[in-house]
Amino acid sequence: MDIKNITIKQAHELLMSKKMSVLELVESVLKIAEGIHNLNAYLEIFDDVQKQVEVAQKMIDEGNAVLLTGIPFAMKDNILIKGHTASASSKMLEHYVATYDAGVTKKLRDAGAIFIGRTNMDEFAMGGSTETSAFGVTKNPHDITRVPGGSSGGSAAVVAAGAALGALGTDTGGSIRQPASFCGVVGLKPTYGSVSRSGLMAMASSLDQAGPFAKTVEDAEIIFDCIKGHDPMDSTSYPDDFLKREFKKPKVIGVPTEFVRAKGVDPRVLKNFEETLESMKKEGYEVREISLPALSHSLAVYYILMPAEVSSNLARFDGVRYGYHAEGTNLLGDYLRSRGEGFGREVRRRILLGTYVLSSGYYDAYYGRACLAREILKRDLVEAFKEVDLIATPTAPTPAFKIGEKTSDPLQMYLADIFTVPVNIAGVPAISIPSGFVEEGNAKIPLGVQFIAPHFEEDVLFTVGKDFERCVQN
Ligand code: GLN
Repeated sequence: MDIKNITIKQAHELLMSKKMSVLELVESVLKIAEGIHNLNAYLEIFDDVQKQVEVAQKMIDEGNAVLLTGIPFAMKDNILIKGHTASASSKMLEHYVATYDAGVTKKLRDAGAIFIGRTNMDEFAMGGSTETSAFGVTKNPHDITRVPGGSSGGSAAVVAAGAALGALGTDTGGSIRQPASFCGVVGLKPTYGSVSRSGLMAMASSLDQAGPFAKTVEDAEIIFDCIKGHDPMDSTSYPDDFLKREFKKPKVIGVPTEFVRAKGVDPRVLKNFEETLESMKKEGYEVREISLPALSHSLAVYYILMPAEVSSNLARFDGVRYGYHAEGTNLLGDYLRSRGEGFGREVRRRILLGTYVLSSGYYDAYYGRACLAREILKRDLVEAFKEVDLIATPTAPTPAFKIGEKTSDPLQMYLADIFTVPVNIAGVPAISIPSGFVEEGNAKIPLGVQFIAPHFEEDVLFTVGKDFERCVQN
């Protein structure tokens, strides 16, 4: 049995037909997990797996199983699981133990999914390479000299390595889609408000969403179907009847050509993207060039709105109520030392940026204008979706880069988010799907294509994604 490459759907069938028990499945996956210590993708493998296995097996035996029952699952370290540490890969929360389940955790638990461990990430989800983690970088399973992407790099890496069948990440500006692309797996950022944010550690609340990593589009859909839906604990989550949309088969793919050909996009990425569009045409899709001038402002908008929200959300970590504490000579000294030592450089940089753009002298010039530009981008997208059913871009402008390559130049790192941030600014859903490889020495480094759909039309993404997977296989 090829456990490393098995999908959720296939594992489910084996469990249901009793060709395999939950224990056998979980033990085989745990064995793979033990074998990838060198990747530093798991921060912890949980010790209560046995208990969860019993619950899941009982659900199967009593005929109460659903698709995720008994499926070994990994969770990003900023998603709360009651009784387990959740550190957001920060020294600030190194010993913090969650006192309740996140909304998404609860849904997965009710479905009988088995949480096997928590995965490494950029500190508080700030980064695109998992290099800002306080607990060391995660390595890309396709080439251990390269980053897995970020911030959910650990979740992407464990799924790519077969050390979990599915995983959750969070995506504020690309942190599910970009690592999915770098590691050669599927990653979905759902519509803002379709999945509960209760129990996720907030980075930038108007942009954050949790979503799945999986080996196939079908598996990503299975996970999304489980975690979506209204949660009274999250006031921005939409009522369930709002999520129901009439499905119409997508036909027209819009491509913002000018934007995609922007400076700095690797020619091999562009070539792969052209090939992707060609194969979609063969599948019967029409590809139409569209113009979205506001897209060129999205990085600037993101790097104002995001730090502004970060600076406000992270104010709660004062070293007094919970989290890392360092003793100063007075209360101010406590704050300065606790926050100065508890947070890493990137987090401190963003808090500084955020308090600057929100300060009274600069609020109108930066934060106010970024909010206006956000509305323009949303309006442009609504207009574009009158003409096309979905939009395609590469997921990232380059393949996975070398560890250390961009750490000394934060601006270079921020540019890697160019294709993913517009999606969070507008709140629409998008999926990244493996689209091929580039050869680098002896290694084959994965590439990904991103499809973007209108609000609440994840169905469109799953349909086009499955069509695309079929073309890639043939
Ligand atoms: N790479 C982006 C950033 O550094 C995205 C982060 C995220 O989506 N959490 O902000």
